[in-house]
Amino acid sequence: MRGTTELVCGSAAILVAFGLGVLDAGACTGDLDNNGIVDGADLGQLLSTWGQVGTGDLDGNGIVDGADLGALLANWGPCPPPLEQGHLYEGKWQDLAGQATTSVGVQPAPFSADIAFILDDPQATSDVRLVHPVQLTMLCPGVNTLEGPTGGIDFRLEPQALPGTWNPETGDLFIPLQFQRHDWQIDQFVPPMPTGLEDGFTATELWGGQFVGHAFDTGDGLSVTGQLQLSVELPITGQLVEVQVDVEAEDVPRKDFGTIPDCPEAQRCNKRKVCVQPVFIGTGANDATKTGTSYEVFKAKADTIWAKACVEIEWQDPVYVNKPGYKTIEKVEAADGVTELRSLKGEVDEKGENECIEVFFVSKFVKTNGDNHGRGDGTTFGGGTASAKVIVSDAAIADCDPDADGVLAHELGHAMGDCEHTDDTVMKPTGNPPNCPGQNPSKVSSDEIAAVQKGALVKLKDPKEECCSSPD
Ligand SMILES: [Zn+2]
Repeated sequence: MRGTTELVCGSAAILVAFGLGVLDAGACTGDLDNNGIVDGADLGQLLSTWGQVGTGDLDGNGIVDGADLGALLANWGPCPPPLEQGHLYEGKWQDLAGQATTSVGVQPAPFSADIAFILDDPQATSDVRLVHPVQLTMLCPGVNTLEGPTGGIDFRLEPQALPGTWNPETGDLFIPLQFQRHDWQIDQFVPPMPTGLEDGFTATELWGGQFVGHAFDTGDGLSVTGQLQLSVELPITGQLVEVQVDVEAEDVPRKDFGTIPDCPEAQRCNKRKVCVQPVFIGTGANDATKTGTSYEVFKAKADTIWAKACVEIEWQDPVYVNKPGYKTIEKVEAADGVTELRSLKGEVDEKGENECIEVFFVSKFVKTNGDNHGRGDGTTFGGGTASAKVIVSDAAIADCDPDADGVLAHELGHAMGDCEHTDDTVMKPTGNPPNCPGQNPSKVSSDEIAAVQKGALVKLKDPKEECCSSPD
């Protein structure tokens, strides 16, 4: 199980803060003497403590070994220039023409993309400027394959992205890219696995590639033309092997954070939005016994908490599933225990084509031994992907502490792309029923803010709206 969860949703290690660029020290891994270049002196220092504890223990596993040597050699040469003088560029691209090479041949694959990168300021010593990818999230409604439709496809940038280069003289732009790719079909091959029957993530394929093209300075940003060329490196389904997306004179405006007074640079960002589709069990709005009695309370809490991350939740009107059997969800203590949850999540937007997070409200969860699972019990499938779905229960409104109202906010954190649990923020797990859960704290950390802002369904607002995030 653990192996599956580690494939998913990636690491929450976010290297880049928003606003003016701040890269972590890992940007020059291997420069042990901090002289701006990884060279023989660093190699000597590493080898001098081979097999022992030492400064050369780059991966922090307690011993200087071959992995550390590899990391040092991978960064051989001058360190990237510091980025204190960089600027953030952010753009939204719609209706990009793409094509996908699949198991049934080449097919059209239209994409939309949210892109953000930090362009370092001109260096006295070089004509070339470094481009540090911060975000590149691409969505496509899907393509057909021998195994049937893929369902919604999403690509999300791996956090450990390498910098690209832009030559302002020639316009040449090259950005190496590493992605996690997910679609609904992958979930049929490797079903999403909630950890401890609590929070579920999904497997993703590793893809690599590059953007190759040109960019020209428009005065308030870059205009970009070229092609995204991507191919699968670690396939799961084998049904989708290559994707090419054409970019034709698309703008990436420079973000000038000048208008928010008293906002620390690292907290300045553009506001995001995420669509949430509530799903109640019942015949419709007039059904007196429909689920969703906790909706307003959960919703208010989620709004308050995720506003701190500059994410605005766009709540859709509820839709209904008229299958009363789902009101009580049984968590079977056998197999993976979530058969009924999987069945329920397939009732709306089965293939993940809708660009909303579906949130299903059931009355309660029970275990096969009869114990009630109360409120505080929630499950997320497909965290961070375009197929993300959440299931929460109403029960504990009556059964538990009425203040324990943060479960949906917590699950939405997972659904938007934060795969971590922490001790003192909204992402603290509140414990397992049948005991009533404690309250999810209302705090949000800066890592959590960065993680949710990059979720596949968390999009830049258009037109842009500046925001000052407020980590606690
Ligand atoms: Zn959780």
